[in-house]
Amino acid sequence: MSTLDKTIAKIHANYGHDFACDNPEILRAQKSADGTVKFLFGLHDQNRVESVIMPYARRHTVCLSTQAGCAMGCAFCKTGSMGLARSLSWHEIAGQYLSCWRYLMEANPDRTVASPNIVFMGQGEPLHNFDAVKTACGVLLSEKGVCLGPRQITLSTVGYTPGLERISELPPVNFALSLHSAIPEKRAVLIPLEKTSGLDRIIPLLAGIRLKRNQFINFEYLLIGDFNDGEDDAAALAALTRRFSSIVNIIPFNEIAGMRWKRPGEERVAAFKAMLVARKVRTMVRNSRGRDISAACGQLAGE
Ligand code: SF4
Repeated sequence: MSTLDKTIAKIHANYGHDFACDNPEILRAQKSADGTVKFLFGLHDQNRVESVIMPYARRHTVCLSTQAGCAMGCAFCKTGSMGLARSLSWHEIAGQYLSCWRYLMEANPDRTVASPNIVFMGQGEPLHNFDAVKTACGVLLSEKGVCLGPRQITLSTVGYTPGLERISELPPVNFALSLHSAIPEKRAVLIPLEKTSGLDRIIPLLAGIRLKRNQFINFEYLLIGDFNDGEDDAAALAALTRRFSSIVNIIPFNEIAGMRWKRPGEERVAAFKAMLVARKVRTMVRNSRGRDISAACGQLAGE
């Protein structure tokens, strides 16, 4: 019996029989030139979600969806243009993970595939489905479930404050805020939630998160050409993030047909990074995987 089969048997025994690894069911798997694989999952009620496996040197990472569609309506995101169909149950969230892991094992029959890391960055706002995400994290981390380490999971949010107020209920997983601009008026153009639940409320809640040693808050910054890539943007970003033990992840925008936002050139990305580094901000540039199969940040639409 493989580690995965033992894990699934454990989950059945400890969490009940409504859990099934094949719920949701893989309808389609698309492979990118860079090794990224995007899955389309069918749910029991005909809703669909997508998950993505990204290969990295040491371990794979899977990007999981927490909702079918999303209510947040971010202006740069294809999922956001769909609206929210419904939130997923904890077993639909954990089921995506186990199905992805099984796919990897079957694709690599000659070697052991270690349990992949997880980022909650697929469709949906994880904190808008707080209870199911909390239960899924519990099952994924528990010895009675998948037995992952807390640092194997990263939860990413646009700053949904009713969820942020409950963040201490979650296990000590890694945390990422989709910031995209530290200037509230500009952020509100990208993230409508900023108008009602903005940085003035988010930042004090972030400050209350207890970080472990060597743990950081990740600030995700989608860099959009001629929108948020100027000197004033870098200055505001540095002033905000320097207050935290943090890393800024710059993600050059992946253009989406029908959207007005454009991808910055490589020199612009390098120049923006240099502006942050000059202000002593720990900065990484993350190039999205799977752009050729629409699996990159903001491109998931369950089509
Ligand atoms: S970026 Fe995230 S929170 Fe915003 S609309 Fe897309 S899926 Fe929802």
